[in-house]
Amino acid sequence: MARKPWVDKEECISCGICKSNCPQVFRFDSRGKAECFDPCGAEEEVIQSMAIDQCPVSCITWLDGAD
Ligand code: SF4
Repeated sequence: MARKPWVDKEECISCGICKSNCPQVFRFDSRGKAECFDPCGAEEEVIQSMAIDQCPVSCITWLDGAD
């Protein structure tokens, strides 16, 4: 199973970069915090370079898909 990006919502400042760059992977929840709704919505390399590396507060990390 693919690794899944995970957002630390306590750190997220709702800038929207991840959602704008990877709209098939990230969305805002009801509080306006980013969350991953489809880890397969983009290639891992794209998620890394366009979302994880761009997040201004570095609050997106990978979860290992062990389950
Ligand atoms: S890029 Fe980071 S701070 Fe911005 S909305 Fe996404 S998770 Fe939140």
